[in-house]
Amino acid sequence: MPTMSASSATVHGPRSPTPVEQLGSLLRETFGFDRFRPYQAEVCRLVTAGNDVLLVMPTGAGKSLCYQLPGLARGGTTLVLSPLIALMEDQVAALCARGIRAERIHSGRARLDARAACRKYLDGDLDFLFIAPERLSVPRFPEMLAKRKPVLIAIDEAHCISQWGHDFRPDYRLLGERLPLLRPAPVIALTATATPRVQEDIVAQLEIPDSQRLIHGFRRDELAVEIAELRRADRAVAVEAALDEPSHRPAIVYAPTRKETEALAERLGERFPTAPYHAGMPNKMRDRVQAAFQRGDLEVVVATIAFGMGIDKRNIRTVIHTALPGSVESYYQEIGRAGRDGEPARAVLLWDWADRRLHELFFETGYPEPTVLRRIFDALGERPRRAAEVRGAARLDEATFERALEQLRIHGGGRKVGEDDWVRGKDGWRDAYTAQRRHKQAQLEEVTALATGTTCRMCALVRHFGDRDDAERRCGRCDLCAPAEAWIRRFRAATDSERTVALRILGALAERDGQGTAQLFKVTCPDHRLDRRGYERVLDGLVRADRVRLEDDAFSKDGRTIRFRRAFLTDAGWIASTAGDGDIEIAAEPRLTPPRRAPAARSTR
Ligand code: ADP
Ligand code: MG
Repeated sequence: MPTMSASSATVHGPRSPTPVEQLGSLLRETFGFDRFRPYQAEVCRLVTAGNDVLLVMPTGAGKSLCYQLPGLARGGTTLVLSPLIALMEDQVAALCARGIRAERIHSGRARLDARAACRKYLDGDLDFLFIAPERLSVPRFPEMLAKRKPVLIAIDEAHCISQWGHDFRPDYRLLGERLPLLRPAPVIALTATATPRVQEDIVAQLEIPDSQRLIHGFRRDELAVEIAELRRADRAVAVEAALDEPSHRPAIVYAPTRKETEALAERLGERFPTAPYHAGMPNKMRDRVQAAFQRGDLEVVVATIAFGMGIDKRNIRTVIHTALPGSVESYYQEIGRAGRDGEPARAVLLWDWADRRLHELFFETGYPEPTVLRRIFDALGERPRRAAEVRGAARLDEATFERALEQLRIHGGGRKVGEDDWVRGKDGWRDAYTAQRRHKQAQLEEVTALATGTTCRMCALVRHFGDRDDAERRCGRCDLCAPAEAWIRRFRAATDSERTVALRILGALAERDGQGTAQLFKVTCPDHRLDRRGYERVLDGLVRADRVRLEDDAFSKDGRTIRFRRAFLTDAGWIASTAGDGDIEIAAEPRLTPPRRAPAARSTR
C-alpha cells in the first residue's frame, strides 16, 4: 500500500520521511509521473501540512492530484465529495488501477455495495471514499462518517455550492452544515471556474475563512484571442476565409443552434472534411464524429456547446465562436481546447449587439419575474394539487407555467409528489431564485464587457477568474496587443478628422481628467466633426494606444443604476497631448477575404 504512516518511525536506520517529504516519491512511485505540473507541488505541500485551501485552476491542470497525493501522504482516509456519478466512477477506477484503495457511495449503487463500502470505511480499509453530496441528507449517514474521522476532506467542483456559480446544486448547501461533524481534517475545495464572487461564497459557506487561496494557470501563452464585431450575415464567409489557410486547422467552430451547425458544416464541408455535432444527433453518430476528429480524418467540427467534454486532441489550431457565448466561463472553457500542444493557436469570436439582444430574450423567457413564480407558490399548499389545477389558479399560459414551475422546483418553492401532483415547498425560494437571475444577468454583462474590451484580451480573462497577480502582463498576441496579426479584425490609420478629435480628447482630459465619455463627446465634437460612433472609434483607438484609460462608474437615478465610463489620461497620453501627436489606429471594416477556390475535399458526412 502506498500509505506509509509518518508516525511509524523506525528505530533503526534513518528517520522516516515526513509526509511532506514523501510527496515526491509518491508522485513517482504510486502515480508514475516524473514531475509535478505547475503549482501542484506548492498546493500538495500546503494541504499535506494541514492547511485549508481553495484551489482554482483550469480544467486539465491536474487538480485531482492536489488532494490525492496529500491524502496518501497524511495516511488515513480522504473523503471526496463529487457531484457527478460518472466523474466519481472514473476517478475511483483510475485510483484502483494504481493499487490505491478507493470506494464510492452514490444513488447509482446497489444498497449492498454501498453498505460494503461503509464497512470498509469504518474498518479503516480505504484510502479514498467518494460520496455524492446528497448523501449528506440521508439520516445518520454523516454521523456514520463521523465515527471515523477522515484525514482530509476534498470538495471537487466546489463552485456547485454557490448560486453565483454556473452549476449551482442545492445539495452542496448541506456541506456547510455537515462539515463541522467531520472536522478537524483540512478541507481542500477545487474548481476550474470561480470568479472572485464565487470564491467568496465557497469560502464563506464551507467556513474556511483562513484558507489559502491559490488561483493559477489561467493565462495561456500560446493562445491569441481575437474578438470582432460582425453582422450575422457575414459570419459564415469569415469562418470560411479564416479556416482556408491549412495551418489554421484542425478547428472547432461553435455555433449557437443545431440548425446553424448543420448549415455551416455543409458549407465548410465543400472545402475541408467537416461534420456537425449537436445533442440532437444519435449517440452513435456523435461518437463517430468525435472519433474521426480525434484521428484527424475530420479537420473541422461545427458544434453546439455539447461538443468538447472529454475531447483530448492536442493539436487544435483554431476555435471559432460564431455568436456571443452566454458566459465568460463557458467561453474560456471552449477556447481552452485550442493549442494544448503548446504551439500557437487562435480563438476567434464573432458577435454583434443583435446577439446580445437574443440572449436577453432567452433570459426573459427562461427566467420569469419572481412575481410569476409567486403566483404558483400561492396556488400550492400542503395538500397535493394537480399541475393543471395549479396553472388555472395561477392564471398562466402553459409555456410560462412550465418554465416558472420548473424554476420554483429548482429553488425549493415547490415539490412534485406522485405522478403530476405538487405541494408547496420552502419559503426561501425567492432569495435563491432572485440571486440566480441576477447571476445570469451579470454573466451577460461580463461577456459583453469582454467583447467590447479595449485592452489585452488575455489580461481580461485572467482577471475575470480572480488571478490579480497575473493580470497586468499584456499577451502580445491578441487582436488588441497585435492588431496587425488579426485575421478578421482590421485597423487603419486615423483620418484628419479623427486625428483632430483625438487631440481634442487628449486636450479636454488634460484640462479636466476623469470626464464621463458622453460629456467628452459633447465637448470634443460640438461641430459634428465626427458622429457618436466615429467618436467612440477614436476613443477606442486612444485606449488601445494606451493614451487613455477608461473606468466604469455608476450613479442612481429614480432607483435605477445608470452605468457610464470615465476617461483618464495615461502618461503616454500626456506626452502625446503636449506633442500634438494624434496618430492612432482606428478599427476598420472586418476582413472577409473571398476564399480561393479549393479542390473539393472529401466529406465524411
Ligand atoms: P483537473 O481536475 O484539473 O481538470 P485532472 O486532475 O483530471 O485535471 O488531471 C488531468 C490529467 O492530467 C489527468 O489525466 C492526470 O492523470 C494528468 N496529470 C495530473 N498531474 C500530472 C503530472 N504531474 N504529470 C503528468 N500528468 C499529470
Ligand atoms: Mg477535476
